Amino acid sequence: MSASNLNFLVLDDDQLLRFMMKKMLRSFSAAKVLEASNGTEALEILRVPETKPVDIILCDLNMPGMDGMEFIRHLGEAHSTASVIIISSHDDTLIAAVRKMALAYHVNLLGTLQKPVTRTQLEALILQQKSALPRKAAYASATPNFTLEDILQGIERKEFEPFYQPKVSFKTGLINGAEALARWIHPQYSVIAPYAFIELLEKSGNIDELTFLILEKAAIACQALHDNGHIISVSVNLSSKSLNNPALAEKITQAVRNAGVDPKYIMLEITESATMTDVAQSLENLARLKMHGFGLSIDDYGTGFSNMQQMTRIAFSELKIDQSFVKGCADNKNLCVVVRSSIEMAHKLKIECTAEGVETREDWDTLKGMECDTAQGYFIAKPMSLASLLAFCATHTPDVLFAA
Ligand code: C2E
Ligand code: CA
Ligand code: CA
Repeated sequence: MSASNLNFLVLDDDQLLRFMMKKMLRSFSAAKVLEASNGTEALEILRVPETKPVDIILCDLNMPGMDGMEFIRHLGEAHSTASVIIISSHDDTLIAAVRKMALAYHVNLLGTLQKPVTRTQLEALILQQKSALPRKAAYASATPNFTLEDILQGIERKEFEPFYQPKVSFKTGLINGAEALARWIHPQYSVIAPYAFIELLEKSGNIDELTFLILEKAAIACQALHDNGHIISVSVNLSSKSLNNPALAEKITQAVRNAGVDPKYIMLEITESATMTDVAQSLENLARLKMHGFGLSIDDYGTGFSNMQQMTRIAFSELKIDQSFVKGCADNKNLCVVVRSSIEMAHKLKIECTAEGVETREDWDTLKGMECDTAQGYFIAKPMSLASLLAFCATHTPDVLFAA
């Protein structure tokens, strides 16, 4: 059992439940099991610097004083790297709301367990810890902290390259697109993932520098794919902050046309976000992009803010369910509820639904059963260079996805 190197904290006002959980965790030979009867006590424990901090917190929702929701908020505000498992006797709708809230606070929720908790269920969630480390934390240890100046210099030297992750139709198993994901090919540190530079670029108002570099390269790649007979679209991430700029739509259209590509082959992925401050201006940009023929995609669906509800008035062409709902949906009832309703909503709006973060055959089968349209994830392929994508497209056959 891989709990042997993990530290746990059990937070519940019920002493008997704490006792039971501790016993169960010890039977998995957990490295350390701490306990707290209320949120304040738990936060105190987490504040004490440890050589090895708490990895997983088992947390009740309904507690006198600070409830589970408030506790999760404090975890988020403290940028805690601990993951959370919620233990509750509440129904799916509350759990789904808490999941959404945890995501908004950037707290990594491994899942939820209904009381009474069984050993097998708990074990299954703990096993997710390894693959589900918060994305930021997972990268933080491996990459140095770059300054804005470093990053801007890198962009100026055109050291940033898109890697492409294929998207595949659930029905046919054929490739129908690829998402361009920025990578910094750093002369000293090799390949750097987006978490080391996107946030700083967005915060400082410099994200467009990167967007246009990636867009130009992605458009050229799209042309190369078509030249090789692979008529697929390429998706590019667009920060919602950029939508506040009145000149954006024209600039994007120009960049894509310069590469000789019809905008209908470029999908722009936009995440729901609080940075979309000027809703009217954003809608104007989206309408203009739509008019020029671009595909528009709602990215990270389920994690964001309510502005996007206004956005559904603009004809989006794709809804991408965030990987935090997709990963492990095959054996998690609560995730299934969110995923199914997202797919239904997309289809009611007559737009395609893509699931990102499809890692296993079980999740693939579950999503296919729910009539999701497109899959993206490690089960199909990881992001790769353009040369590798061209080779992948040339050799991919659908049967590998449907094999029993
Ligand atoms: P995203 O748009 O949600 O992209 C999907 C992320 O999930 C990618 O991470 C991809 O590598 C990862 N992924 C795909 N399938 C799987 C899977 O099966 N399992 C797991 N565990 N992960 C999977 P990546 O490349 O690190 O990008 C992170 C985020 O950085 C992106 O999330 C996007 O929000 C942002 N980003 C990347 N490139 C750009 C860009 O050019 N411009 C902007 N504004 N943001 C970008
Ligand atoms: Ca995306
Ligand atoms: Ca996502």
